Amino acid sequence: MVEYTLPEMPYAYDALEPHIDAQTMEIHHTKHHQAYTNNLNVALGKCSTDIQNMNILEILSNLEKIPDAQRKAINFNGGGYDNHRLFWNSMSGSGGGEPGGAIADAISKSFDGFSQFKEKFSSTTVVIQGSGWGWLVYNPISKLVEYTSMPNQTSPRTEGLVPLLGCDVWEHAYYLKYQNRRPDYVASWWNVVNWDEVEKRLADAT
Ligand code: MN
Repeated sequence: MVEYTLPEMPYAYDALEPHIDAQTMEIHHTKHHQAYTNNLNVALGKCSTDIQNMNILEILSNLEKIPDAQRKAINFNGGGYDNHRLFWNSMSGSGGGEPGGAIADAISKSFDGFSQFKEKFSSTTVVIQGSGWGWLVYNPISKLVEYTSMPNQTSPRTEGLVPLLGCDVWEHAYYLKYQNRRPDYVASWWNVVNWDEVEKRLADAT
């Protein structure tokens, strides 16, 4: 089987300073993301060749095809593998501000404007109990962008939703710099959102 490898970071660990510190980024990538990647390979190694030959997006969208014994591990580690790869690429040292183009229009249509969207995303994400992610997703059925929060590493793909922008609120994402101040981390994270990438994901999804 083809083993998944840790995706390379699209920028240096200190590129998101001061909003996200270099040490957090390095540990997050080389320890946490690496562990999800390794454990995904372990779980897939216990599956049939049919499953091993599916790509990760197909797997996350069709978890019912995974045998019971490996489903939880693949939901968690496959989600962790994919979520973090999306996360790194949806941030940039030259990010932040407000989006333009089709993504701005889609957000306005669903949330009555960018500031209302940002308020809803932030206030709902900071109160996620335990570990999880806040997501802006595209819903192929309603053909609208929506907000959803997901527990642990469960991917929005498991619910047929296309992830556009995720904010990781596991403590490992912010504790070294922000300690218990999750709202401060989320407020600062907006300064590194790479809206060009989010717009590209929306275009790919529609
Ligand atoms: Mn994480």
